[in-house]
Amino acid sequence: APRVVIIGAGIVGTNLVDELVSRGWTDITVVDQGPLDVPGGSTSHAPGLVFQTNASKTLSLFARYTVEKLLSLEKGGQSCFNQVGGLEVATTPERLEDLKRKHGYATSWGIETRLMSADECLEIYPLLNKDLVLGGLHSPSDGLALAACAVQLLITRTRDAGVRYLGSTLVTGIEQADGHVTGVATRDGTLPADIVISCAGFWGVEVGAMAGVRVPLLPMAHQYVKTTAVPAQEGRNPLPNGARLPILRYQDQDLYYREHGERYGIGYYGHRPMPVVAASLGTTPKHVDEQNMPSRLKFTPEDFEPAWKLSQELLPALQQSKIAEGFNGILSFTPDGRPLVGQSPTLDGFYVAEAVWVTHSAGVARAVAEILTTGRSELDLSGCELSRFEQVQLTPAYVSETSQLDFVEVYDILHPFQPRESPRNLRLSPFHARQRELGAFFLEAGGWERPEWYEANAELLNHLPARWLPVERDAWSARYYSPIVAAEAWKTRTASAMYDMTSLRRLEVSGPGAVYLLTRLTTGDVSGKPGAITYTLLLDNHGGIRSDLTVARLLEDLFQVGANGPADLAYLAREARKQTAATPDLFVQVRDITGGTCCIGLWGPRSRDVIAAVSTDDFTSQGLPYLRAKRATIAGIPVTAMSLSWVGELGWEIHASAEYGLHLWDALWQAGQPHGVIAAGRGALYALRLEKGLRFWGTDMTTEHDPYEAGLEFAVQEGKEGYVGHAALKRRSRVTATRRLRCLTVDDGRSMVLGKEPVYIDRRPVGYVTSAAFGYAIGKPIAYAYLPNTVAEGDAAEIEYFGRLIHATVAAEPLYDPQMRRLRA
Ligand code: FAD
Repeated sequence: APRVVIIGAGIVGTNLVDELVSRGWTDITVVDQGPLDVPGGSTSHAPGLVFQTNASKTLSLFARYTVEKLLSLEKGGQSCFNQVGGLEVATTPERLEDLKRKHGYATSWGIETRLMSADECLEIYPLLNKDLVLGGLHSPSDGLALAACAVQLLITRTRDAGVRYLGSTLVTGIEQADGHVTGVATRDGTLPADIVISCAGFWGVEVGAMAGVRVPLLPMAHQYVKTTAVPAQEGRNPLPNGARLPILRYQDQDLYYREHGERYGIGYYGHRPMPVVAASLGTTPKHVDEQNMPSRLKFTPEDFEPAWKLSQELLPALQQSKIAEGFNGILSFTPDGRPLVGQSPTLDGFYVAEAVWVTHSAGVARAVAEILTTGRSELDLSGCELSRFEQVQLTPAYVSETSQLDFVEVYDILHPFQPRESPRNLRLSPFHARQRELGAFFLEAGGWERPEWYEANAELLNHLPARWLPVERDAWSARYYSPIVAAEAWKTRTASAMYDMTSLRRLEVSGPGAVYLLTRLTTGDVSGKPGAITYTLLLDNHGGIRSDLTVARLLEDLFQVGANGPADLAYLAREARKQTAATPDLFVQVRDITGGTCCIGLWGPRSRDVIAAVSTDDFTSQGLPYLRAKRATIAGIPVTAMSLSWVGELGWEIHASAEYGLHLWDALWQAGQPHGVIAAGRGALYALRLEKGLRFWGTDMTTEHDPYEAGLEFAVQEGKEGYVGHAALKRRSRVTATRRLRCLTVDDGRSMVLGKEPVYIDRRPVGYVTSAAFGYAIGKPIAYAYLPNTVAEGDAAEIEYFGRLIHATVAAEPLYDPQMRRLRA
């Protein structure tokens, strides 16, 4: 049996042990620097509010599992979850709207919630100030986790099952050999290990550093107080720490509340960010108690002053009480507000499960246990993967700035496309100067600045044919959008447009084992002659889609691979290392060449005229047919041209070494002027690809979907065997899939949705929107959604958008050019 060592006996570590034990793992040791009865981490003082609903499906379902699990943990007839329900109140019209959106998320993810009028809020929460509250969202299954108590029960039950616990034992090092973890060094000696999971909470940075792994989290203090007994509450809660009223959120003022018997507990996120360096806290003492623990810093009452006033306004009964005690408790924040879960990209066998709230703890623990047991988690982990960050996002300065922003914005109403204002301009394509000259509006992704549209194209709106005119949008869907996008879509479909595709990840896979590696890991046939391009999938061993790739064979032993996030690089590099170690003859290397290269997508029916003006190479449909790549020269610049398109039009991805980028842009721009070439942004690309039915990985498909469900069976090579995921696919087909990604068009031709909204058929929620955009060529909004397989083309559906039902129809897809005439022109 593999030897497992878990660092940290907080709510995450102990849940993980339990999940592993229940899956038959036997050789487990848990180490904590603190005493096991009160280890002294964040869990030891957590007030334990569990609000399940989140914009992220995965986080919501993590929370739902935590609720289930804690409800099932009992001692003396009392469970570790007090299901008092959760109430979020709105005191501004914006928040009231936002709660409608949140109700939509909850419905999409299968969590029951109800929008309430102000009167209804007062009925279930009489202490509220009725002059302040406009309405609320009630979630009956939310409640209070008794986290410290759950930890003790989990320790007892797993210790009885044979797990070793070492309390008051400081971990001082992680031992490794040949890129694999081998043990955990403690003050009292080394524990040999095959798998180490760091559940060290906000000490994650320090433990990660012992393994040479950058863990991008920032510990920060957050204020929590308890009041004296509130006279209005007298006798309501017989238990000293009991509660009957729903947990309460007042997000307009960064506050939340729970009852502690007759007293109130108040948490506040409105104060200045207070970052902490965990290493500065010293060693955990042998005896830890409520008042004295490393995760609890001295209260700074001046920071809480506004909160106390605001709380007395929202809950006037508090005016009869005082603040009895308070502390600045430490917890972890991350650059994107999500947890850090999974294996280190560089050290095999070293995992982390950190920056996890009590709310998500059991769900995260289950996911890690699933990965260790079966190789994959049932829920999509892409948003939580430790390996999701770009190099530039791992620097201490970046982590500090973005995590502090995450703290500040924790309860803010954030638009899904809202970019952060800083740090920006971290990664610029070589075309950036020209894009600025054209008035590009930039959004940021992975540190890259990506044009959404160009103000220089505003003038085109005057020439737009009537049927291409953009429709008026509601205020929410009009944010980070411009009608110029319609003009850019029009030009792409009727002339030619230059798209900056530099931020697309480009990997180079090379060596005598390159074909073997890609054959083993992908669903497609990548063994074609040099020049062949294959659109293919990376599956996990259960047939879930872990990524989609365009694999271009440039030479016998050299491939250029278009991939998705950094997790793809981590996966392919790890598999390449393993292959090279096991079979040196099949040596293979994976290198990220994104930063050293650039890419222009030149697409549109007149693109061939543009390129003919600057190249003598053969770009005809015979010289470079669809899905072929070749080296070529454009305006004297060596390029790799790939005949493929993200917008469904004739054209090429033109890749070049980065130093030629500006010259390449200028040459195509100039050559294109007589043919109406424009620069176009991602707004147009996003819409055009949806018209063409092109799926984006991460939203339209994840590991939760197999190729049949995602409508990507064409990417699975018939007759191919033995690749990762093949065994799982064997018995599946389009017919056996119980749900499928379907295309909906909006009946009124103008109501926009943005993604994640619930979809109803016959008034029952049956799925949710993955991607949505206005289809300019078809003149209607489009939404893709996973729907039951029984749904037929032409069926009516409804999409809930801010509480309003939008009528839509299931359509045959792709909506644009199903015969592929334009691509092959
Ligand atoms: P911890 O409980 O911190 O456990 C980590 C363990 O690792 C510690 O016991 C530590 O001793 C051990 N360790 C670290 N380094 C080493 C080492 N080198 N050697 C040995 N052992 C080591 N979350 C919610 O969901 N709802 C809430 O209402 C809520 N309220 C909060 C209020 C406050 C004031 C604070 C501070 C946090 C709150 N949280 C809440 C967050 C929540 O408490 C934490 O996210 C959660 O407890 C983290 O659990 P954990 O197991 O990851 O970490």
